[in-house]
Amino acid sequence: LTASMTRPRLHIIHIAAEMAPVAKVGGLGDVVAGLSKALQKKGHLVEIILPKYDCVQHDRIGDLRALDVAVESYFDGHLFKNKVWVGTVEGLPVYFIEPHHPAKFFWRGQFYGEHDDFKRFSFFSRAALELLLQAGKKPDIIHCHDWHTAFVAPLYWDIYVHKGLDSARICFTCHNFEFQGIASASELASCGLDVHQLNKPDRMQDNSAHDRVNPVKGAIVFSNSVTTVSPTYAQEVRTAGGGHGLHATLNSQSRKFVGILNGIDTDTWDPRTDTFLTVQYGADDLLGKAENKEALRKYLKLSSAEARQPLVGCITRLVPQKGVHLIRHAIYRTVELGGQFILLGSSSVSHIQREFESIANHFQNHPHARLILEYDEALSHSIYAASDMFIIPSIFEPCGITQMIAMRYGSVPIVRKTGGLNDSVFDVDDDEVPLMIRNGFTFLTPDEQGVNSALERAFENYMKTGETWQQLVQKNMKTDFSWDLSASQYEELYEKSVTRARARRTAH
Ligand code: ADP
Repeated sequence: LTASMTRPRLHIIHIAAEMAPVAKVGGLGDVVAGLSKALQKKGHLVEIILPKYDCVQHDRIGDLRALDVAVESYFDGHLFKNKVWVGTVEGLPVYFIEPHHPAKFFWRGQFYGEHDDFKRFSFFSRAALELLLQAGKKPDIIHCHDWHTAFVAPLYWDIYVHKGLDSARICFTCHNFEFQGIASASELASCGLDVHQLNKPDRMQDNSAHDRVNPVKGAIVFSNSVTTVSPTYAQEVRTAGGGHGLHATLNSQSRKFVGILNGIDTDTWDPRTDTFLTVQYGADDLLGKAENKEALRKYLKLSSAEARQPLVGCITRLVPQKGVHLIRHAIYRTVELGGQFILLGSSSVSHIQREFESIANHFQNHPHARLILEYDEALSHSIYAASDMFIIPSIFEPCGITQMIAMRYGSVPIVRKTGGLNDSVFDVDDDEVPLMIRNGFTFLTPDEQGVNSALERAFENYMKTGETWQQLVQKNMKTDFSWDLSASQYEELYEKSVTRARARRTAH
């Protein structure tokens, strides 16, 4: 028997605010979908609970139907009915909770950014647990994600275990410690949690304000295992400089805290089948990649006089985390070095948007640089395929997926050594890592010198005669970035957690 056949089948429930493609804002949505699919493939029973947003992509949900019985959940001293819908997303069973609450929590035309997000998601967390209880489910693992569903951990241990929903261990994943959902302590009472008990330094009290509670801290304290999205980021957030105020909490809980690198959805991101591309191509057919480069240059009215002129791509949210000043510098430096640059970036920060609009205007008719300041899924695929190099100069990066997508499309990453970038991109000149896994260009100091050093080395390598660049591209395209390996690590973590619980139960 193979190991996987002897492994116990686990019942895993994800409770989250996002899941790609039906409700996606960023990386969180990709992880919930990608990890769930991979765990299902390994034979586990995986179910997901999401809010029923009005803006959910209904056309991507199969067999959507409402359950006959409404689930009643507590909030602000009252019971509210929730209509529960069930459907299939990417082959996975998903429950959608539609609260019948006068505040119309998920009827806002957007996923987040509402003044009452704390209420919306604490309500949702409680309703999700109520659904599990009333449906008589006996999951082995309840996995909650980010501050939106961090409430699940204290709600489970303080309330639901006593109501009889007690089969599970709780796993919490933080996808970005910048967002912790901190709010005035009194707000916690709405979902039925005991403010007096929880607003304490060793529980949910925020580490820098005694009258505020921190849902992420609560989930760290109350979960059986806590993960984040890369090993390097897990180290960084345990330092005063990188922990966004939670380093002491993470250090005190370090035994249950681990970083697991995300994978990417290799079905969606596959240049051999990607219908957004002008020509599909694989590692053994780089002419196809060259055709995509040619087509995109034409489409964006860039010069295509020189086929071997290196094209640098960058696809990102334009926010401080991503190193916007370094992105700006990279555009100018690339053009100085004789390359071409395409930026696809969207910003929610108005001064950054304005600054990049003026750079976009500056390069409006330029033969070697183009800035597109929008969110454009189709164009993103074309840029991965067309570019020779891909730059990510992040100040911090919990995991990052664009470096992995870039490599799969044969675009060599140039990245700052931080977080998940440090765990997935290894410098071609770094003698300390095996030659086999060297795949890009990295720099450490987040300044213009740093960017220059990596960018210039990338250009030198690209210009070299011979086949070294092509070999690098081909090796990267053949690397396995699928969820398979990461899902195995989560599987192991779940199993350990479940085994520990069983051992404890038998001992008592
Ligand atoms: P984050 O979640 O911090 O935004 P990630 O690297 O984890 O960063 O994920 C970014 C994802 O969003 C990638 O799939 C990338 O292709 C996509 N993306 C980012 N900006 C844009 C944009 N302007 N247009 C299209 N896709 C974008």
